[in-house]
Amino acid sequence: MAQLSDDCFAFGGELMPIEAGLALIGERVVPVTDIETVSLIDADGRILAEDVIAPLALPGYDNSAVDGWAVRHADLNPGGETILPVVTRIAAGDRSPHAVGKGESARIFTGAMMPDGTDTVFMQEDVREEDGRVILPAGLKKGANRRLAGEDIATGAPALASGLRLQPQHVSLASALGLTGLKVRRRLKVAVLSTGDELVEPGRPLQPGMLHDSNRVMMAALLRRAGCEVTDIGMYRDEPDALGKAILAAAKGHDLIISSGGVSTGEEDYTRRVVETVGTLVHWRLAIKPGRPVAMAVVDGVPFVGLPGNPVAVFVTFVNIVRALVARLSGESWTPSTAVPVKSGFAYKKKTGRREFVRVSLVREADGSIVAHKHPREGAGVITSLTETTGFVELPEPVTAVAEGDLIAYRSYENMF
Ligand code: AMP
Ligand code: MG
Repeated sequence: MAQLSDDCFAFGGELMPIEAGLALIGERVVPVTDIETVSLIDADGRILAEDVIAPLALPGYDNSAVDGWAVRHADLNPGGETILPVVTRIAAGDRSPHAVGKGESARIFTGAMMPDGTDTVFMQEDVREEDGRVILPAGLKKGANRRLAGEDIATGAPALASGLRLQPQHVSLASALGLTGLKVRRRLKVAVLSTGDELVEPGRPLQPGMLHDSNRVMMAALLRRAGCEVTDIGMYRDEPDALGKAILAAAKGHDLIISSGGVSTGEEDYTRRVVETVGTLVHWRLAIKPGRPVAMAVVDGVPFVGLPGNPVAVFVTFVNIVRALVARLSGESWTPSTAVPVKSGFAYKKKTGRREFVRVSLVREADGSIVAHKHPREGAGVITSLTETTGFVELPEPVTAVAEGDLIAYRSYENMF
């Protein structure tokens, strides 16, 4: 486990801007150090633990990018057609038995080695072949349709950076470089729980005043998407002893504990008080809406994050804070996905000093512009405001109003976690 100091989440201010939270995480949280080797077929989604330097060049040899005829450019008649004899035929995987001399050409196929002497390839669609000779039009540039050795990556060049979360294209590059496996960080082990006397497991009947737990599966899904190995440690009533024991037990064998509910400052908010007794708690009042209260704690050296109870607040605080914490603990160099400017399809007023996450759907209008339409219901408990939308519009701290037609920053849920 990564042992954190008790005061690593300490923060002196009142309302905490997201950047301040991210800075604390970056400075005071240390990644888990265990490293394992995985085969490329299993490497997708893992965090690379060391830089990969290209052990060989790609392509490994000059080759043709098309099916056609390879020639020496110097042989071409600049003013008109050129007719050259075809002296050899080379397919991908072949080696040319001899070099192509002055005034000669070679039939060649995509991926085949360029025969010595040639530097340019005519596409077969552009030429005619008659009686062992090829008739070439004027105007092709030197080097056309030829891939040079090392033009993709040179031997010794940096190929993949430590901290990278591997995607299909990265394992492809590693494979092209002849590697069979990669060193990656071990998966983070995360325990999730939810709290609240009103919660009922899905599948069980609801009594008056009760509701099904919808946060635990969401937190587990978000964590899995972030590459974690998740343990569901269940649902807890607002009853301090059992909750405290469960959290202490989870601190053994996990790198991180995430809970939902009970972290405001009301008298019914047990999670916060329980964590104060089993660990060192710092209450973060994030300058965001929804999702302000977040309980950050260290329990037995292991970080604990108490998210709010409202499902939309769970989602917003997860993507803004927990995702960064997971990245830091798992050694991933992570930055939030880039927001793109879109046109606002709504007017909106907000308070200064906090960042608001407005749930919107993108629609392409007839004139080609992309417009964000706000979900009609805004409450932090409205789960359909997440399921019926495609992403967030992020309204920065100083903004107080948005007018229809304003350019606003949009981030899709798709690449958010
Ligand atoms: P709390 O933060 O405990 O005060 O909860 C805030 C709101 O979120 C209340 O309306 C709770 O009923 C609701 N809530 C808390 N936990 C969950 C959960 N696991 N699933 C769905 N709603 C929840
Ligand atoms: Mg509660």
